[in-house]
Amino acid sequence: MYDSIIIGCGPAGMTAALYLLRAGKKVILLERESIGGQVAKSPRLENFPSITSIAGEDFASQLFDQITDLGASFEVENGMEVIKKPNGTFTVKTDFNEYEGKTVVLATGCEHKKLGLAREDELVGHGISYCAVCDGAFFAKQDVIIIGDANTALQYAISLSDICTHVQIATLFDHFFADEILIERIKHIENISYRHNLASVEFLGENEIEGVLFEDTQTKEKVTYKASGVFICIGQQPDNERFKGIVDLDERGFILANDKMETKTPGVYAVGDCRRKGIRQVITATSDGAIAGVEIAKYLSR
Ligand SMILES: Cc1cc2nc3c(=O)[nH]c(=O)nc-3n(C[C@H](O)[C@H](O)[C@H](O)COP(=O)(O)OP(=O)(O)OC[C@H]3O[C@@H](n4cnc5c(N)ncnc54)[C@H](O)[C@@H]3O)c2cc1C
Repeated sequence: MYDSIIIGCGPAGMTAALYLLRAGKKVILLERESIGGQVAKSPRLENFPSITSIAGEDFASQLFDQITDLGASFEVENGMEVIKKPNGTFTVKTDFNEYEGKTVVLATGCEHKKLGLAREDELVGHGISYCAVCDGAFFAKQDVIIIGDANTALQYAISLSDICTHVQIATLFDHFFADEILIERIKHIENISYRHNLASVEFLGENEIEGVLFEDTQTKEKVTYKASGVFICIGQQPDNERFKGIVDLDERGFILANDKMETKTPGVYAVGDCRRKGIRQVITATSDGAIAGVEIAKYLSR
């Protein structure tokens, strides 16, 4: 019987483990892919206080070493189902095993939606990014393209216009799906341009991004924009449907949790990018993990 079963071994889940282990609790982390979650895919993490620059993979493995040194158990397994038992404890079923726990932490993160073009994965960190907050500074005084049509895309455009030479927005449909106030703002920023009805065809550049080839969906005209950065901003998707019975999800599939990270089921917590929240970053994921760790320790000593 574990004090806590943590599903997801990204920054949020590992920080929850850190706080629980330091409170003397018995913890297991279940991870279906590899340690670190999204941050392990970040070539450079440069916005975590006191760390000037670190490879995301190194950040993840240092945190993993920290928790395994403190005694965390870890299995590479896919968390499939959480079942609440009559005595208030939980069974977590994975693709291989079943685990018993007094509490469960859902730390399953989310994924940025991909365009699905050739070489998209290999060019991440070589000009392709899904996060202007994370990577915008790497493109200072350069031209960038934003692919997307909603609020986040326009917010990225506005913030990048302060540091980049030129920001080109490309949308697939014939209008923005964003707040009017943002649409008005981008129209008045000199170094932002936009064009609608553009389908992405191909990333240009061998090892580093040099631009994107689009096709106008109405005229079939080929349109090339040169840039050293491409921000793909077409949404994020969580994978929480399997936990729908035990927690409430919002319309986009993010878990609803309060500011103590509690879900609707006492003993089940949700932390990090998998929950409904405003800012999805390493610092907010670790903050959630810390809060959950402290709250779970209190819950266990009731
Ligand atoms: C390329 C890239 C660069 C980034 N750069 C920065 C940056 O510079 N600064 C910054 O602050 N943020 C950055 N971010 C965002 C940051 O990485 C995330 O906000 C953070 O990792 C969220 O942590 P998390 O633990 O909530 O979720 P995640 O990191 O998504 O981790 C969740 C983990 O849960 C696992 N999982 C999911 N479902 C299951 C299941 N059913 N069973 C078992 N395991 C499961 C996943 O495989 C994953 O490993 C970046 C993101 C990306 C993609």
